[in-house]
Amino acid sequence: MSSVVVVGGGVAGLVVARELARGGMTVTVLEASDRLGGKVSRHTVAGIELDAGAESFSTRKGTVAALAASLGLVVEGPNPSGAWLQVSNDRAFPLPETSLLGIPGTPLAADVIEVVGLRAALRAQLDALMLGFAGSKERNFGKLVRRRMGATVLERLVAPITLGIHSRHPDELDVDVVAPGLRVAMARVGSLAHAVSELRAAAPAGSAVSGISGGIVALVDALANDLHGRGAILRLSSPVVAVDGAGATLASGERMDADIVVLATSLAVAAEATITLATLVLDAPQLDGAPRGTGLLVVPGLDGIRAKALTHSSAKWPWLAARLADHQHVIRLSYDRVPLDGLREQARADAEKLLGVELAASSILGFDAVQWTQPATAQPPIDGVTLVGEGVAGTGLAAVVGQARSEAERLLEAVGG
Ligand SMILES: Cc1cc2nc3c(=O)[nH]c(=O)nc-3n(C[C@H](O)[C@H](O)[C@H](O)COP(=O)(O)OP(=O)(O)OC[C@H]3O[C@@H](n4cnc5c(N)ncnc54)[C@H](O)[C@@H]3O)c2cc1C
Repeated sequence: MSSVVVVGGGVAGLVVARELARGGMTVTVLEASDRLGGKVSRHTVAGIELDAGAESFSTRKGTVAALAASLGLVVEGPNPSGAWLQVSNDRAFPLPETSLLGIPGTPLAADVIEVVGLRAALRAQLDALMLGFAGSKERNFGKLVRRRMGATVLERLVAPITLGIHSRHPDELDVDVVAPGLRVAMARVGSLAHAVSELRAAAPAGSAVSGISGGIVALVDALANDLHGRGAILRLSSPVVAVDGAGATLASGERMDADIVVLATSLAVAAEATITLATLVLDAPQLDGAPRGTGLLVVPGLDGIRAKALTHSSAKWPWLAARLADHQHVIRLSYDRVPLDGLREQARADAEKLLGVELAASSILGFDAVQWTQPATAQPPIDGVTLVGEGVAGTGLAAVVGQARSEAERLLEAVGG
């Protein structure tokens, strides 16, 4: 039996560990912190257990849903009412229906014109007159959209979405990572808008994201239980300082040798504080009608609003609404580089503006803020060590789970062969 050491007990590490344990290997997971799950974690606000990090997953290729189902978890789609876009201090619109990461599939649709104006929509429509290969070699997501559809569509429709999902402006993103298949489809079908429509049509029926009843964190609990059941060893508070093709060295100086070494995190230090999530649990009957659907993304740079996105979590997830008392609501706001001091009041004021209703300080039943850091540098390759996780797969559970599973398959084949 081959022995495996997996460094990092986030979703990537747990998925690779499970696949290898299922393949009959002896697995040890070394996790630096005192809990498993990494960026998938829970917190309790006003007595309600909530996701403190990731709260949904992309339904792309059905990867995460298949994993969840194999662990006996119930996958739930979000409320189909959809999200909104806050375009100025006092104007918000429902997000255009036929879009992919904000790129409109129909640039002259009324809901696109409403957000970007007729002039910018006409500029975006020029995409249909260009040849499909114009820009199809461009890997920079921002440059590609700007070239095909103009700067206004990029800044008003696409940037708020990538900043909300990936915490990055489109100019900092690789098309093939955030929208796999888009460039190829564009070259084939002749325009960016048609490529968007084609990719949307090819996506599994229903919404682009799903959740798990009980929260995404249920996935971590189920993976950990499954691993325990297969005899894997999950060691917490065990930070690793170095790895090579033959094992891992812990901060304590302990050395763990193994036939296979998987690194499911970045050992390249320099972490940068990036995102703060502020969660409010409110007693607010004025939110019962979900005035902004499942939430809003905010066009960057608005004067009076500091949040970059708001999720009306209890309107989005039926499982969560079912756990709340009448008129209770869960609102989650995300911020870049915001001081924690005074954040409760900032979050209340932002929620009030974004949701377009009055929210008295006395309506707050609970508040919590969670800060997430992101490594500034990706893990460089190490000879003989398999790398998994968002540093190599890209952000998001669908990407991370898919890549961890295929790396596990590759390792099992190599051993079997
Ligand atoms: C606020 C927030 C919201 C998000 N929302 C969503 C969402 O809704 N949908 C979605 O799909 N994605 C979302 N994501 C992204 C998603 O959570 C991540 O892409 C994914 O969880 C990354 O998993 P991972 O296992 O690669 O890394 P991580 O979760 O970062 O796990 C790495 C693990 O390695 C451990 N570790 C680090 N250093 C060491 C060491 N030296 N020794 C041992 N262990 C170590 C860490 O403690 C951690 O447990 C969100 C991310 C954040 C921050």
